[in-house]
Amino acid sequence: MSIGATWAGTHTFTAAALIEATSIEDVARAVRDTRGPVRALGTRHSFNDLADTAGTLVTVTGIPADPVLDHDARTVTVGAGTRYGDLATWLESRGWALHNMGSLPHISVGGAVATGTHGSGVTNGCLSDAVAALEYVDASGALAVSRRGDPGFEGLVVGLGAYGIAVRITLDIQPTYLVRQDVYRGLPWDTLLADLPAVMASGYSVSAFTMWAEPTVQQVWRKTRIGAGEEPAERWMGARIERPEESGLVDVPPDNLTVKGGVEGAWLERLPHFRLDSTPSNGDEIQTEYFVALEDGADALRAVRELGEAIAPHLLITELRTVAADSLWLSGAYGRDTLAIHFTWRNDAAAVASLTPRIEAALAPFGARPHWGKVHTMTADAVAAVTPRLADAKAQFERLDPAGRFANQHLRRLGIRD
Ligand SMILES: Cc1cc2nc3c(=O)[nH]c(=O)nc-3n(C[C@H](O)[C@H](O)[C@H](O)COP(=O)(O)OP(=O)(O)OC[C@H]3O[C@@H](n4cnc5c(N)ncnc54)[C@H](O)[C@@H]3O)c2cc1C
Repeated sequence: MSIGATWAGTHTFTAAALIEATSIEDVARAVRDTRGPVRALGTRHSFNDLADTAGTLVTVTGIPADPVLDHDARTVTVGAGTRYGDLATWLESRGWALHNMGSLPHISVGGAVATGTHGSGVTNGCLSDAVAALEYVDASGALAVSRRGDPGFEGLVVGLGAYGIAVRITLDIQPTYLVRQDVYRGLPWDTLLADLPAVMASGYSVSAFTMWAEPTVQQVWRKTRIGAGEEPAERWMGARIERPEESGLVDVPPDNLTVKGGVEGAWLERLPHFRLDSTPSNGDEIQTEYFVALEDGADALRAVRELGEAIAPHLLITELRTVAADSLWLSGAYGRDTLAIHFTWRNDAAAVASLTPRIEAALAPFGARPHWGKVHTMTADAVAAVTPRLADAKAQFERLDPAGRFANQHLRRLGIRD
């Protein structure tokens, strides 16, 4: 049986079987009744072999979302296989919102949370930071729950599928809000480097897009909350607001993108870059991404920019975003306000394989951490050096899953399981 590949085709799954669960009992049975390794599979938007296993993959995307609101606690509990976009639509129709979204609404809550997926915003934690509770099938096939405040909870949320299969996830919510997106063109690189924290704090969620080798940053997308006193001006920091006829980003058709031009809209239609009813990003691509402390951000960007001429021919676009510090052991933003330096590459694996170690070497002095769901070449030693709670997370995974049923080659390669 062919299980296929990741969304971008960057990894072909080698698992022997795929179980498409339609109930929590299906998941429990899959863990109880199969032999050998088992791994959760979400919507396949990771770019590497993180989700893969030599044994059985179990996807929970077919389990009904069945969202349950708790008005007093300001949370929603939802099936882990639910796409963010579907949850967001459900919440918005009841007057509620999430704090943030990733660039695409197509990813599952369980898969996004498990890899520390993030949007942008200096005060916005990653999507995992909104997790208040995890209900999961453990290594014995039993249903278990871990809540914020429980011992070890912070080691499970960004869990890389290493502790079990999440079936229901509780997320913090807030009353709905409106957002506008304004695109600025021509921000001088010198201004960005001189004032990186101010640029990135100039809206609720700010993304800067660049090809590195140019004198000005191509575009800055400022997503501002209506009523927050952030309304943008025609000119800003040497950049100018985009004219309607200029809209679009590299190879992505404008119709695939959420509405810009300062038009107010609900949070779920402005915070993601890509529309739920369209193809996100380019599709024919490879992604890599690294996290550094925001306070080191300008120096880290200078270091990568030295490679700009080598990078540009192979790049579709780089996006710079911020993530607020959190306390999740395996989060890319653990313990530090973070600058996320992202690369969407042309689908040329050899070029990416040769450039990635050079970028990693340039970022090593800044303690750069990799995005778990994207391509990187960091060794177990390098990952351990920049992940302060890795040993704690590993010890917890080993205690919860002593036989290593949820372990795989990827986790072993990175020293997250033996
Ligand atoms: C076009 C595109 C745009 C992207 N944009 C962003 C972005 O804006 N920000 C960002 O940070 N990342 C981004 N990513 C990366 C993406 O968010 C992550 O790779 C995320 O993990 C994808 O979720 P998924 O459901 O597809 O997970 P999968 O790729 O299916 O699985 C990823 C990991 O999660 C685990 N997992 C999945 N479901 C469960 C579960 N129910 N219980 C336990 N573990 C589980 C798997 O075992 C695996 O280890 C993007 C990817 C693409 C393709």
